[in-house]
Amino acid sequence: MKKANLKDYDITYGAFDWEKETAALSGLPEGKGLNIGYEAVDRHGSGSLKDVLAIRLVRKDQSYEDLTYGALKKRTAQFANVLRRLGIEEGERVFSLLGRVPELYITALGSLKYRAVYCPLFSVFGPEPIFQRLSKGEGVVLVTNVQFYLKKVRDLLGRLPALKYILLTDAAEDLDDRALSFSKLMDKASEDFTIPPTGEEDPALLHFTSGTTGMPKGAIHVHKAVYTHYITGKYVLDFQPGDVFWCTADPGWVTGTSYGIISPLVNGVTSIVDEEEFDAMRWYSILEKEKVNIWYTAPTAIRRLMRMKMVPREKFDLSALRLVLSVGEPLHAEAVAWGKEAFGVPILDNWWQTETGGIMIANYPSMKIKPGSMGRPLPGVEVGIADVDGEQLVLLDGSDAQGHLVLKKNFPSIFRAYLGEEQRYQKCFMGDWYLSGDLAKKDADGYYWFVGRADDIIKTSGHMVGPFEVESNLMKHPAVAEAAVIGKPEPSIGELVKAFVVLKEGHEGNEDLELELIGYARKVMGPAVAPKEIAFVDSLPKTKSGKILRRLLKARELGLPEGDLSTLEKN
Ligand code: ATP
Ligand code: MG
Repeated sequence: MKKANLKDYDITYGAFDWEKETAALSGLPEGKGLNIGYEAVDRHGSGSLKDVLAIRLVRKDQSYEDLTYGALKKRTAQFANVLRRLGIEEGERVFSLLGRVPELYITALGSLKYRAVYCPLFSVFGPEPIFQRLSKGEGVVLVTNVQFYLKKVRDLLGRLPALKYILLTDAAEDLDDRALSFSKLMDKASEDFTIPPTGEEDPALLHFTSGTTGMPKGAIHVHKAVYTHYITGKYVLDFQPGDVFWCTADPGWVTGTSYGIISPLVNGVTSIVDEEEFDAMRWYSILEKEKVNIWYTAPTAIRRLMRMKMVPREKFDLSALRLVLSVGEPLHAEAVAWGKEAFGVPILDNWWQTETGGIMIANYPSMKIKPGSMGRPLPGVEVGIADVDGEQLVLLDGSDAQGHLVLKKNFPSIFRAYLGEEQRYQKCFMGDWYLSGDLAKKDADGYYWFVGRADDIIKTSGHMVGPFEVESNLMKHPAVAEAAVIGKPEPSIGELVKAFVVLKEGHEGNEDLELELIGYARKVMGPAVAPKEIAFVDSLPKTKSGKILRRLLKARELGLPEGDLSTLEKN
C-alpha cells in the first residue's frame, strides 16, 4: 500500500504555507507569471512526462484516443494559435458545448494557454440555457459539433451579437464564414505556442453554478486557482507518480474542469475519460481494465450503484483501486459503509462549491473517517461555523456548534466575481469571511457535518430541521433507495416535514409502508423531526450534475412557479 501524501493532517494543517507548498509549480519561464495551462500541460509536455499518458479517452465503442503530455502540449498550442488567427483577444470568452471528446480538453487547455476565459456548457442543454449563458458570458467563440449547432445554436445567432465564431469539431469544411471547421483550422496551425505573460489574477475560467437553489450564477476564477487544484490533487486525491485517475463528473460543470481536467494534469498523473454516460457494468469494467487507482464520483451515481444487488469486487478485479471519493451532495453514512464492502475501501466525502473552485473540506486517506461527515478543512483554508445576524458575523466555537458554514476568503481559488451581479457577489462576504450558503456542524474533533442549504432548512414547531439528517435516517430503512425532504407550510407548527421517497426494487408504496416509515422515523429521529407526510415517487427531480432539486419539489407541492429549470435533468 502506498503511503499517503498527507501523512499527518494536524501537522500539515498547522504548518501550511501556500507559497512553500506550491513551490513545485514553476510558473511561466523567465518569471512571466502563472498560467494554469502551463502548469497542467506545457511544464510536463516538454519535461520528463513528455511521453506519459495525460488523457486516455475511452470512446463509446471502447476504443481509445490517447494523448500524451507531449501530444497535448502540441494540440493545445495549435488551438491557441487558432484563437490568435481568429483575432480573439486576451480575456475574451471561449465556450464549449461538447460531450467528452478530445476537442473539449484541447479547447479548455488551449484557451487557458492563450489567456482566453474558458466556460464549459452541459452538452444536454437545450437552446435557452445555452443562450442565457452565452449571452451573459459574452462568448466570442463556441466549440461544438454540427448536430448541436444545427439543432440548438443556429437559431440563436441573431440574439448573440458577441459570438464571432462557432468551431465545429466534426465538420470537414466550413459551413459559412462564421461556422468553421475545427480540424481545418487546427491542421493549419503551428504546434508551437509560447504562453504570453499571465498575471495570477487574470481571469481564467467561468463556471455557472448548478442552479439547485435558483438561477445559475456565473462564477469567475483566476489563474491562481491552480494552487488549489494542485494542493487538493496532492492531499485529497493523493495523486502519486504513475497513478491512473478517473473523475466521472460531466465536463459541463466545475468538477469536470477542476478535477476532470486540471488537477490530475497539474499533478502529472493519467486521467481516464469515458465518452459514455452512466452505465454501472461499463463503469466497473473500466475500473478493472484501466487499473484505476483513484476514482472520483458523486452521490447520485453511488446511490444508483448501491441499488443494484451486487458486490462489484466479487465480479471485477478492483485491486488497483486505492481511493474512492465523492462530491456534490451529502454522502450518507450508509454509502461510506457500502463502499467498504463494494470496493474494499471506504468512500471519502468532500465538500466544495463552484465558488470555491476546488475542494475545501475533505476526508483524507490517512485520517480517521467519521461516516456521514464531510471531513476537515483543506490545509491552507480556514473554515468556521458562524451565526449571521444582519451585519454581524459571530464565529461559534463550542463543540457541536451549528450555523453558517463560512470560509476565510484568502485562499487562491475563491471566485472573484459573479458575472454581471456585483451586488450578489458582495452579499456573499462579511469582513474576511465568505458565506457559503450552507449550514453545517463542527464536532469536538474538528470534523464538519453537513446540515443543509440555508434555503432548505425547515422550521417546524420551533425546531430547525436539516433535510439531510432526515433523508439519511430514512435511507437506513431497508425499503428506501432515495429520499428528499422539504418543509410544507402548516400554520400551527410553521412547517411540516414532508418526505418524497423512491423505493428499492420489490417494495410497493402503499399506506401500510407509509405508516411503517413514519413510525420508523419517529422512533429513530423523534417526533419533532420525523416526517409527517410521505409521498412515494418513481424518481426525484435532479440537476444535470445529479443534485436533488428540493426547491422544485416544494414549488410543485405548493403549486408555485417552478423557477429556472435550465439545469433540470430530464428523466
Ligand atoms: P446553485 O448555487 O446554483 O443553487 P449549487 O449550489 O448546487 O447550485 P454547486 O456549486 O455545483 O451548485 O454545488 C455546491 C453545493 O453542493 C454546496 O454548496 C453544497 O450545498 C452541495 N455539496 C457539495 N458537496 C457536498 C458534500 N460533500 N456534502 C454536502 N453538500 C455538498
Ligand atoms: Mg450554490
